[in-house]
Amino acid sequence: MDRSQKLQYIGNQTFDLCVIGAGATGAGAALDAALRGLKVLLVDRDDFAAGTSSKSTKLIHGDVRYLEQAFKELDLAQLRQVRHGLEERAIVLANAPHLARPLALLTPVRSRLEGLYFSIGLKLYDQFASGGDALPPSRWLSKEETLRRIPRLSRRIAGAVLYYDGQLDDARYCLALARSAAEAGAVVLNHVGLRQFEKDAQGRLATAELEDSLTGTPYTVRSKVFLNCTGPYSDAVRMMANPDLPERIRPSKGVHATLPGSVLGAEEALLIPKTKDGRVLFALPFAGKTLLGTTDTDYSGDLEPVLLEQEADFLLEGLNAYLSHPLQRSDISAGFGGLRPLLAASDRTNTGKLLRDHEVEHDVASNLFSVLGGKWTTYRLMAKDAIDAVDSQLQAPRSCGTATHRLMGAVDYHRDFWKTVQEASGFSDSVCRHLASNYGVDAMQVVALAQSNAVLTQPIVEGFPFVQAEIVFAVRHEMACTLRDVLARRLRLELIDWAVAAQAAVVVAQWMGQELGWTEQHRGQEVEKYQNAIAEWQQKAGLE
Ligand SMILES: Cc1cc2nc3c(=O)[nH]c(=O)nc-3n(C[C@H](O)[C@H](O)[C@H](O)COP(=O)(O)OP(=O)(O)OC[C@H]3O[C@@H](n4cnc5c(N)ncnc54)[C@H](O)[C@@H]3O)c2cc1C
Repeated sequence: MDRSQKLQYIGNQTFDLCVIGAGATGAGAALDAALRGLKVLLVDRDDFAAGTSSKSTKLIHGDVRYLEQAFKELDLAQLRQVRHGLEERAIVLANAPHLARPLALLTPVRSRLEGLYFSIGLKLYDQFASGGDALPPSRWLSKEETLRRIPRLSRRIAGAVLYYDGQLDDARYCLALARSAAEAGAVVLNHVGLRQFEKDAQGRLATAELEDSLTGTPYTVRSKVFLNCTGPYSDAVRMMANPDLPERIRPSKGVHATLPGSVLGAEEALLIPKTKDGRVLFALPFAGKTLLGTTDTDYSGDLEPVLLEQEADFLLEGLNAYLSHPLQRSDISAGFGGLRPLLAASDRTNTGKLLRDHEVEHDVASNLFSVLGGKWTTYRLMAKDAIDAVDSQLQAPRSCGTATHRLMGAVDYHRDFWKTVQEASGFSDSVCRHLASNYGVDAMQVVALAQSNAVLTQPIVEGFPFVQAEIVFAVRHEMACTLRDVLARRLRLELIDWAVAAQAAVVVAQWMGQELGWTEQHRGQEVEKYQNAIAEWQQKAGLE
């Protein structure tokens, strides 16, 4: 993961496969291809998972909503998708158990009849799960038991249906995929974007003009095949390869707001069965806070989607209908928005109704492969389908090895690993639990760094489990280049508390500056830029 060394290397190389975009799909594809022995380059114009893959609801699921729609509309494609999601759920949980875990979700209901409806639906959902992840079956909870588990729920509920799905730390899972791809031999680079392609005499893609987004330095790389994994931006890359291609992606914006952990008060999540616009909402425990989401609206333009005031109010209204004491906008400590890379239907169907399925497209004229659509849960299946297609063009197809490939940090990891971290470090329970779940067995490398310098054992900010050694680890071993790489995607602090992230930026910049040779002036500019961005997000969310 030495970025400058990799940049020096790529220029004169011919790769078998150049993957553009390092979200879940691209990082998953790079890992799959590298495990099959291909010579792979993975690039992203921003950071690993900086797009949608760090801004999801973080559920690993077959999606109960699609099961409902499948039965209502007798739609086999939706049923197939639920089954795929549930099969992949088992694999995602098994391959990085430090980053993904089973999650209990409570669906509160207003009447026994409503409870019966959800109970039957969730029993069917249980049946669809392959059993590979052995999650407990769904069951009915009495009103008393529901309120005992989540005391802030309104007394006007009749009870709840409890069921299980998976939850992951999306950005860190994506980073583990990219690091695992590098371990398997791929060259992985963040902050390197595709500018344009050059074609051969037959009109097929031959080279890519890349640019280091941090310095503006151009690079030209040759590759036998190019794979477009740019999610919501896929059409732009498809048009670069072949301007005659029709648009296929219909980006849909979804936002989340972060609330105090005490809203749920436990390790369990809530599924709010109905909002004003007929959607469901999720309130999930994440890093000691509660994430509330999401929305589903058409989106166009290049600006980063962020939480807006009216969206914050909409989310709060949906949750408040089920709480005994309503939450206010001032309870929100952060928020984020992402773009679903939905595959467009021919008509103007509401984006909420578009299937979250995927497709591998091969444009024969330019020889560009694109993976379109899909969701986090099925990233591995998407990658497999794409690399099967690429592999059959390049050579005799080799079998995919990702179903059982443990990601970095996962080998020898077990639930009590935090105690091993504690024995080695003497850090508090909460720091050790945090280190074990963020890094898996690699937490011991963070501990070793901390032991090399007493200052590195200090917290980044008081009241949170992050230690300063993590900043150095992020630069040296996780290719972090900017404050946001560390605060949003390595530590996740930006998702849980904007004000604290703005404060932490000063310490993060100090260590990053030291590691990356920033001048004092550059350090100050980075902090100012980051703090200004946070002030702007707070203002847009109506939190001033
Ligand atoms: C609000 C919301 C909630 C969601 N919740 C869930 C959920 O709970 N469970 C689930 O399974 N799925 C969920 N999803 C869907 C899931 O997050 C996405 O399907 C998935 O993350 C898409 O991954 P991707 O790699 O295809 O795209 P992205 O993660 O967007 O990655 C594309 C990458 O391409 C890069 N890129 C773009 N152009 C270029 C270029 N020219 N050169 C180089 N790089 C480029 C971008 O920087 C970006 O990093 C959710 C989505 C949203 C929006």
